[in-house]
Amino acid sequence: MSSPSSDAVAALADSRFQQTVERLSGYLTYPAISCDSAHFDDVRALAAKIRDDLEALGMDRARVCELPDALPMVAAEWLHAGADKPTVLIYGHLDLQPVKGEPWVTDPHVAVEQDGRLYARGSADDMGGWVSHLAAVQAWLEVHGSLPVNLKLVIEGEEEIGSPNLERFMDAYPDVFASDVMILTDCENPSTELPGLTVSLRGLTEVELVCEALSSDGHSGLWGNMVPDVSTALCALIARLVDADGRPTFGRMEVPADWAEASWKVPLNDAVIHDGAHILPDVKPLPHQGRSPAEWMWRQPALTVVATTLPRPEHKKNALRTRASATLSIRVAPGQTTDELLSELTEIVTTDPPGGVRVTVEREGWDGQGWLYTPKGPAFEAADRAYRKAWGHELVQVGVGGSIPFVAIFGERFGDLPLILNGVMDPKTTAHGPNESMHLGVFRKTIAANVHLYAELGDTPGLIRGD
Ligand SMILES: [Zn+2]
Repeated sequence: MSSPSSDAVAALADSRFQQTVERLSGYLTYPAISCDSAHFDDVRALAAKIRDDLEALGMDRARVCELPDALPMVAAEWLHAGADKPTVLIYGHLDLQPVKGEPWVTDPHVAVEQDGRLYARGSADDMGGWVSHLAAVQAWLEVHGSLPVNLKLVIEGEEEIGSPNLERFMDAYPDVFASDVMILTDCENPSTELPGLTVSLRGLTEVELVCEALSSDGHSGLWGNMVPDVSTALCALIARLVDADGRPTFGRMEVPADWAEASWKVPLNDAVIHDGAHILPDVKPLPHQGRSPAEWMWRQPALTVVATTLPRPEHKKNALRTRASATLSIRVAPGQTTDELLSELTEIVTTDPPGGVRVTVEREGWDGQGWLYTPKGPAFEAADRAYRKAWGHELVQVGVGGSIPFVAIFGERFGDLPLILNGVMDPKTTAHGPNESMHLGVFRKTIAANVHLYAELGDTPGLIRGD
């Protein structure tokens, strides 16, 4: 049976837009900062508020799921569409990044509308994304008293600290996650005119590169020129790892030619990068060297020196040191393993090291593979139809240069399901930074897209697992 019309639902949701912004603004007054124990009560209070609101909305089994030593997760469901309709899971997170020390122009926990954007911590990451679904659900229930699919909602309280307990929640509450299609709403749109579908992430690994030569500091005047300087050797080794532009010379990936060509059309050009990354006016983004910015940022490894033990100004002395080290943060391209990448790196730095210093490479804390997903099948065609209606454009496949632990976890556990990763962020959002904001036009179009998406998924055969 085909779904009732989504047009009337989208019209009602649109007429209620200002109320939806007010609902979102109410949630944004909670400083639900998950990395700071002083705010754990705020996370819990917001979870309780969302649970109550889901119940009031007409969702069943609205509950706060708890585990020892974890911040809560909220879940609810509406499963009355019938066994012939797919079950769609919507994931979001309610917790926030901290704001301490950031130069906010307005109070980060009071939503302010300005120039078509809503400013507040969490406005786009991720409460806006989450509320775009609440608004769609509410409109469906008001217009038709029902939804065109079976729906499960889950909202996590620990995403901003890397979802350390998400797998435990998946084990402890399997029915919360059991579904046929997953919509994960915490990702970015390439522009306010083009809706994004995230299909790849880079992984992240960290190593400590250590140079040693002496058992005790030595006088640089007495010994200089015959005794190796570990600090110089360390800098020379780091320079070996990168080309003249500072990009890694190792682990370079071959991407499919058609992907490489299409990646030039992604609206990720030098101007967007210059602006978005706060590059100084007289400095330019790195040269393309025959590859698109999207390829460099999403599909190739990158290296950043994130810490060193080079002598600091307050410890300056005319001496050759015993040891110098640098922590290298390496973004792992999707499709490559950290083991492969690190064995190449180790080979480069340990072969004939400068001054014959002793070189070791030690793995540090972070270690996560990238993720590469091929969206295909009827769920994505349904999503494209919904987005064309609401945005006038189908979803544009984008990558993320960073690493999002929850996406990797969903990808690993549920990679055989359609995973629709989208959200309400755009290049001006500055998630995790000062003056985070959401574009209200994006919010409005995303609410409409969600309304149509449920209907399109409800009308798409072949989505139910085991069908
Ligand atoms: Zn987020």
